[in-house]
Amino acid sequence: MSLGHECVGIVAAIGPDVRTLKIGDRVGWGYVRNGCEHCSQCLAGYNFYCLNGSDQYFKTSFDQGSFGTAAVWDEGYVFKIPDAMASEDAAPLMCGGWTVWNALTRYGLKSGDSVGVIGIGGLGHLAIQFAAKMGCEVTAFSSTEAKREEATRLGAHHFVATAGVTELVVPRTIDHLLIETNVHPDLSLYLPILSPRASIYPQQIPLGFPNWEIPFFPLLLKGASIIFATTGPRDQISKMLGFAALHGVKPVVEKFPLTKEGIDASIKKLEDGKMRYRGVLVAEDA
Ligand SMILES: [Zn+2]
Repeated sequence: MSLGHECVGIVAAIGPDVRTLKIGDRVGWGYVRNGCEHCSQCLAGYNFYCLNGSDQYFKTSFDQGSFGTAAVWDEGYVFKIPDAMASEDAAPLMCGGWTVWNALTRYGLKSGDSVGVIGIGGLGHLAIQFAAKMGCEVTAFSSTEAKREEATRLGAHHFVATAGVTELVVPRTIDHLLIETNVHPDLSLYLPILSPRASIYPQQIPLGFPNWEIPFFPLLLKGASIIFATTGPRDQISKMLGFAALHGVKPVVEKFPLTKEGIDASIKKLEDGKMRYRGVLVAEDA
């Protein structure tokens, strides 16, 4: 649960022009809700970057309908959930899954590449699974040893605890480094273990959006790329869901009832930093 923009529901009614959905279909949606459908970004599927200022989560409105019992949505922005996938497993993929999938599939990553994932949380625990299933060699970085076993279970081939460490030791340099923490990491720690021409994907969103210091000259000498892979084209969502269903990529979730008490309890656990890793609110009749 990222405060309610990862949603799954059953189609209860459709308008006269709807062609791709029928009543009873199980669908999910994320934070991209519309687009002008005419500008270059919308035509390429990147509606989040719509040049005509369409209404988007993070930009203008936080009302996604996922804390309610029903929502009205455009058919082009909801996506069928594979039959083999439980709704509670699908919901966290609608943003978190899509985000890491975007980094892993749109910028040249190949099977056999070395992937580093900093932070084993809501996004990181998905990134480890996707990268491992894509045939990459995965190194997980976490502050302490506490998540070593879980990272390994999720598919990480190597695990490195970083708290208090001044030098990282990895068996192989990192070609693609995904940052999935809730604070900005000190990139200088990771410089020595980056491959030449490595790509760095900052996907962290720290509270208050503080600026981030980048060791630019060492990165320049490495020919590194920093890629803000926030959101991909819409056609990727169904591919991501299909891949996850086929290969058994599953979020680790904690379920709460979709009631005021359930929402309060889940938010508290989130604020306490104790959620492992996605809190899912489940409606009684789901
Ligand atoms: Zn547009």
